[in-house]
Amino acid sequence: MHLSAALLSVALPLALRATVNACSDEHAHDHSHAHQKRLFPQTQLTQPTRPLEWGDLNIIHTTDTHGWLLGHQHASFPEPNYSGDLGDFASFVQHMKQLAIEKDVDLLLVDSGDLHDGTGLSDGFPAGGIDAHDANQFIKQLPYDIMAIGNHELYDYINTWDMYTNFVPALDGKYLSSNVNITVFDANNNTIDVPVGNRFRKFTTRKGRKITSLGVLYDFTGNDVNTTVQSVADMVKEQWFTEAIAEEPDVFLLVGHMPVSRDNWPTVFNAVRAVHAETPIIILGGHSHIRDCNQPDGRSMALESGRYMETIGWLSANLGSSSDVNTKNNISFSRRYLDQNRVTYEYHSQQSNNSFDTKEGQNITQGLLDLGVKYDLSMLFGIAPQDFTISRDPYPSNGSSLTLFINEAAPYSLTLNNTRANISNIMITNSGSQRFDIYSGTFDKNDQISASPFTDAFMFIKDLPLGVAQDVLPALNAAGADERRKRDLGSVLQERESEMWKRGYVNMRYMEWLDEMDRRHDGAVKRASQNLTLGYVTSDSCPGVGDDTVHAPLASFDIPDFIGSDTPSLSNDSLVDLVFVDFIQEQLLEILNEVQNATTYTDSDVASYTDVLSNVVLGLYAQHAWN
Ligand SMILES: [Zn+2]
Ligand SMILES: [Zn+2]
Repeated sequence: MHLSAALLSVALPLALRATVNACSDEHAHDHSHAHQKRLFPQTQLTQPTRPLEWGDLNIIHTTDTHGWLLGHQHASFPEPNYSGDLGDFASFVQHMKQLAIEKDVDLLLVDSGDLHDGTGLSDGFPAGGIDAHDANQFIKQLPYDIMAIGNHELYDYINTWDMYTNFVPALDGKYLSSNVNITVFDANNNTIDVPVGNRFRKFTTRKGRKITSLGVLYDFTGNDVNTTVQSVADMVKEQWFTEAIAEEPDVFLLVGHMPVSRDNWPTVFNAVRAVHAETPIIILGGHSHIRDCNQPDGRSMALESGRYMETIGWLSANLGSSSDVNTKNNISFSRRYLDQNRVTYEYHSQQSNNSFDTKEGQNITQGLLDLGVKYDLSMLFGIAPQDFTISRDPYPSNGSSLTLFINEAAPYSLTLNNTRANISNIMITNSGSQRFDIYSGTFDKNDQISASPFTDAFMFIKDLPLGVAQDVLPALNAAGADERRKRDLGSVLQERESEMWKRGYVNMRYMEWLDEMDRRHDGAVKRASQNLTLGYVTSDSCPGVGDDTVHAPLASFDIPDFIGSDTPSLSNDSLVDLVFVDFIQEQLLEILNEVQNATTYTDSDVASYTDVLSNVVLGLYAQHAWN
């Protein structure tokens, strides 16, 4: 579909949108195409199972949106489940606010951080731009009551500075960074260390409820210089913290970029409980990208609402009126994980296709589409012939995006115009280099940025005997597996894993969740029966079913930490190039010196293999193989 059709379809009722066709043949070779998100998915989306339970306090929760503001645009499941966009979400929020007024209850909107890094809308900015600066102008238009800072706001000082300078002021006290500071110059050109947002916010809801809220970041250590993250344990000892929680509100709203399980929420919760044994506490977490919920006690609930604009969280509580909130009874809470699409939105906001879109929502959608044009995100590399997934297909296999990257794309793209092209090689990278699955159909600049964003360089060691070079990959992976085996023993290597967590690597936790989901819910059987669409199937520690829509769970396969290209069919003493991503150089040299004794390899044996960086490998390959 092309731009004119995309613009037209924005104004069309949903029923008509489905009749707008995809690319016509005459334009099939255009090197641009408009994003098809307004084209309603051809496959039928599953309706929600039941209406939401409203309480007297209700919360809509987003987290880890990472630039996915135009939603998920490909036709293969599970992507259509998440095909709504920020404009649709804005319309949804507006209708739900109206419903809350009709029901005479409170409805709050909360976000738990990580606005940066994820798609072309955030990362595809032209030279001289700032990640997510333009996309964040649209997030500002949503009526958020509380937003918390995420670790992805802190990897580059300029992003933190942009939040501090351009985003936080527009949020007017609602952007919280309880334990995160930025270093800036004051009016006299002295450096000062100040909170990025506010430490806390106290406010009163429309219905007169007093709320005290925080915006906490987990113990993150990968932040850039001139930003500071205080540990959660130290934060609760601060004078401001003691003072902020001293006065009893009707409810504590503890927002933060911190998983609700297996992290430091108990530190914050217990600090509040030590002062207020009965006050209702609501925790809204994030960062590990999963759907999760638990109840620390009978008068509290902690919710985490997934990632990438796939999930919208719903939490409701019946707190009673301000005069009787302090009874000791358990509070009745509910929570729900909504798939982020228009079918869900229309169902719960009680709107039809014709009535759903609000002017504000449509303007946001149009603004995001315009931003996509400005960033040239529809620049087409080729048409992917099938889906390629990171962990829903085994590695190696034809459906694995890891296989695609290292067995097909890298051997082509890294040897383009390369004087080493005729010398046999083995190429190695880390599986974490791939961020998102690749779906059948158009593969454009936005898809490339989402799938493989990291700008790592490729290095090589020349003249290695094949017999040695081919031992490196298995040894790298054995070292990784060894680390996991030793985890229970509390080894030094366990510390390395926890170090990775502190620096922000969450994929391990997310994939662990998918794996558990597949096993617990008989994934293979449910997928085979084919009466359910693919999607998340959540088990958490809160009562009842959390998912709003029934799905068959996604498949999940173990993937190795490191992946390598096919070994050339040569004798073991043939000399080859060992090519690898610079990110793993230190580990690789260590392993290379373990698998052979003839030479001690050092950094001086390593040279640059190509100017092609890892983030353009897939695009170069797609132009060659998918046209
Ligand atoms: Zn995140
Ligand atoms: Zn995060």
